[in-house]
Amino acid sequence: MHQMSDTEAPPAVGHWIGGVSIEPEGDLAPVFNPTLGARVRTVGLATVMEVDRAVQAAAAALDSWSGLPAARRARVMFRLKQLLEDDKQSLARLISEEHGKTLGDAEGEVSRGIEVVEFACSAPELLKGEFSDNAGTGVDTYSLRQPLGVVAGITPFNFPAMVPLWMFPIALVCGNAFVLKPSERDPSASIRLAELLQRAGLPDGVFNVVQGDKRAVDALLAHPLVSAISFVGSTPVARYIQSQATAQGKRVQALGGAKNHMVILPDAEIDSAVEALVGAAYGAAGERCMAISVAVVVGEQTAERLIERLRARLSHLKVGASDAPGVEMGPLVTDAHRARVREYIDVGEREGARLLVDGRRVGTSTPSGFFLGPTLFDGVLPHMRIYREEIFGPVLSVVRVPDYSAALQLINSHEYANGAAVFTRSGELARRFVREAEAGMVGVNVAIPVPVAFHSFGGWRHSMFGDHSAYGREGVRFYTRLKTVTERWPDETHTPSADFSMPSTK
Ligand code: NAD
Repeated sequence: MHQMSDTEAPPAVGHWIGGVSIEPEGDLAPVFNPTLGARVRTVGLATVMEVDRAVQAAAAALDSWSGLPAARRARVMFRLKQLLEDDKQSLARLISEEHGKTLGDAEGEVSRGIEVVEFACSAPELLKGEFSDNAGTGVDTYSLRQPLGVVAGITPFNFPAMVPLWMFPIALVCGNAFVLKPSERDPSASIRLAELLQRAGLPDGVFNVVQGDKRAVDALLAHPLVSAISFVGSTPVARYIQSQATAQGKRVQALGGAKNHMVILPDAEIDSAVEALVGAAYGAAGERCMAISVAVVVGEQTAERLIERLRARLSHLKVGASDAPGVEMGPLVTDAHRARVREYIDVGEREGARLLVDGRRVGTSTPSGFFLGPTLFDGVLPHMRIYREEIFGPVLSVVRVPDYSAALQLINSHEYANGAAVFTRSGELARRFVREAEAGMVGVNVAIPVPVAFHSFGGWRHSMFGDHSAYGREGVRFYTRLKTVTERWPDETHTPSADFSMPSTK
């Protein structure tokens, strides 16, 4: 990992427009290596003109791309899959360097992204329409799905490869052209993805990247040639994106923040529940939208058993450099984000929650990095800010409840409703939970129920705005619009006559 000296000009991550890497012309923002706590690059913040160039490049490439048979578009995805497999470790290093997640976790992120590419390979099947022969006498009806045009994706820092891969493989095979605006905090993976797409045979201009911040996002929202926006990020921004995009007449899917609950019932297999909980709460330093941030424990005895084991496990959880072997948790993404999470720990103490493990006192071999240790609160109550708000760091809150109904009540009255999990040996209670929990994704003895690529990802309430979840068939529906054709061919036995009543089946 290369650390910049104060006098050295850092390399700037630029845009990718029309199949060419473009030097940024606007302002630059720093990009850090969180393990070192040092600036390693800068990133361009696109101007309105740069965004326009990217959208125009996409619009110019659109017709010939959307005119190709779906099977030919899918072949690009077959090649992309192989290139991503070959590049997985190198891409994971790039992600880990700028994000701070461990190398193994970064590889897992790329693998989950590749699964969407595999799904996109079946485009001809996915785009197949429906046909009704002789829907009326001499009349056939069929439906087809057509691309939207130029679509844009705006993505968060926590999955710089996987979340773009949730979007563009499906958007592209459906015949759209794409403009990606990745997070300015870890921008390099987006350019690597663009290069791989080009090597896979994607025509120049079909996929473009503009780096940047709110200004670039606003330029995409306002651009008349952008037909649809896919967004993944925090809830306040998701809400903003949805309102602006719909006001501009664009189709929008905006996935927001989360506060995922894991319910541990008294009959749960406690050792596996603890291991699942530790991985789900502290993996990627809690910077996952499917991280478990609330453990809802049913019964005092269950709580005592769980807490005892959790504390023991956390005492040897290995925090350290994201590329060091055996490390379980790396640093947070930036110093500013770490300060925000620390502030929440202060808030939790002031609110009267019991701080059992304090991550503010963590020692590492790279003291200038943005590290924070695993933090555990017990006795958390529903009115507390640490319970209500998304912290997005390695902070787990334990809430004790007397029974299943009280646990369910918590989940069903929280602002966020992304994922929810239950740990139990009872099939009956698990089945009830699946039916009754109000969340977009539910796990039974699975703490992070991220759907596979041939299902779809999305939350409820303030965890998602819009009607279509990400990827899977929902992705295909989002990136296409339905056309239904009613067709009659001249027939010599048919005597034409004007019909003034509503046509009906004859
Ligand atoms: P963020 O909302 O700060 O940023 C997301 C994107 O929006 C970035 O590209 C950013 O440049 C842009 N952006 C930021 N502020 C903006 C503004 N005011 N106006 C317009 N655009 C703006 O999110 P983040 O910190 O990068 O990512 C973490 C958040 O993302 C968490 O809340 C997490 O739960 C959420 N997330 C959700 C999912 C999901 O599927 N629901 C998945 C991953 C992350």
